[in-house]
Amino acid sequence: MSAPLAAGYDRLLVDLDGTAYAGAVAIPGAAEALDGLPVTYVTNNASRSPGDVAQHLRDLGFAAPDDTVVTSAQAGAGLLASLVPAGTPVLVVGAQALCQEVEARGLVPVETAEEARAVIQGHNPETGWARLSEAALAIRAGAVWVATNTDATLPTERGLLVGNGSMVAAVRHATEREPHVAGKPFTPIFVDAMRAAGATRALVVGDRLDTDIQGGNAFGADTFLVLTGVNDVQDVVAAPDVHQPTFVADTLAGLRLPPAASRPGPRDGWTATVDGDELTVTGAPGANPADATYAAIAAARALSEERRSGLRLTIR
Ligand SMILES: [Mg+2]
Repeated sequence: MSAPLAAGYDRLLVDLDGTAYAGAVAIPGAAEALDGLPVTYVTNNASRSPGDVAQHLRDLGFAAPDDTVVTSAQAGAGLLASLVPAGTPVLVVGAQALCQEVEARGLVPVETAEEARAVIQGHNPETGWARLSEAALAIRAGAVWVATNTDATLPTERGLLVGNGSMVAAVRHATEREPHVAGKPFTPIFVDAMRAAGATRALVVGDRLDTDIQGGNAFGADTFLVLTGVNDVQDVVAAPDVHQPTFVADTLAGLRLPPAASRPGPRDGWTATVDGDELTVTGAPGANPADATYAAIAAARALSEERRSGLRLTIR
């Protein structure tokens, strides 16, 4: 038996929600699958400190020292510090955790547009019109603008709330400017995570095609889609090239199997046919049901992006 998939990498950059946990509960088997592997947890959430995130992970049974968590607040503050000199006055539109990261990089939080030479924007449930307007004034006056992340929505037990990307969109609409973005699917957060780990060969692991997988692909890393969160096989089949993962698995246990087990491709006993926008994958008697996913994705990838975009999958 060949080496497990995870052995091909010196760092696994693992998403949190939908991958390690679903809100307040661990994804079954996730902690066991990651145990002993070289993991950094990478989250677009900018409102909690790395220590708070790590404590939540430990409460759920994950081995997660504080220094194995990288947040978009850290990456955003680091990105801003690379764009402006030390001592630059910064209007922070965000939570205390973001303010701390800004101060830790020698930048100086201020309260008004007139003082600010830079703006950094991350999620804070307290942010209102007055603060957004202060940001807009500063940005219109030429301040450098960094967003920790641009997630349109914020998943909760009640459903999808307004995410930082939607608050960024309000400021973008008011200023006709574009922010620099640190979080997934942009790559500064991955650069930071790999630098902090002193690692060079990354596998990006997550549940979302348009953040984790797109970001990992843009970073030039291999990517691993786990089907415990937002996206399913139907989504992969219809996804554009930039959203196509290197590996797909039902659970993180795939990290401990040989790479070939999770790599889309033809599988014995499964045949795929395309008729219009219907992709049908049919199993011969005795075919392994778990293989249908991989045969379906391989058949979809043989089509052009345009043909793939409306594709509907049926497994027989
Ligand atoms: Mg996720």
